[in-house]
Amino acid sequence: MAYEYDDQNIFAKILRGEIPNSTVLETEHCLAFRDITPLAPDHVLVIPKGPYVTYDHFALEASAAEIVDFTRTIGKVCDMLGVRPGFDGDGFRLIVNSGTNGVQEVPHMHTHIMAGRWLGHMLPSAKQD
Ligand code: 5GP
Repeated sequence: MAYEYDDQNIFAKILRGEIPNSTVLETEHCLAFRDITPLAPDHVLVIPKGPYVTYDHFALEASAAEIVDFTRTIGKVCDMLGVRPGFDGDGFRLIVNSGTNGVQEVPHMHTHIMAGRWLGHMLPSAKQD
């Protein structure tokens, strides 16, 4: 089975410049921009420029250069936001929703970086929802 990438998804349109975004950082392989519906004072999405659907797709098929750039971009954005624990910030949370059970809405792999407030415990309860 192969991953099927829908190039009409909203992040593909952002990457093609068809929809505006609030860019935080752009690198060779990644774009970081502010979430349109922030759930925390700082809510930034980091996406690879390549056509990856889910985290597992990216982890299994992206090149080493893409993976390094993605990981480093997350670190750089955390630094830019001033949220690095023990340095100048109070911490952050990374979330990568994947697939149906992960409640992924946009089928282009992305990491949420959320910070700027106490974010509560990781999940309210396995039985809620
Ligand atoms: P998911 O549920 O797929 O992990 O998260 C998708 C995220 O994309 C949501 O937090 C949503 O607010 C954000 N989003 C959806 N459409 C747009 C858009 O057009 N621009 C930006 N900046 N964020 C978007």
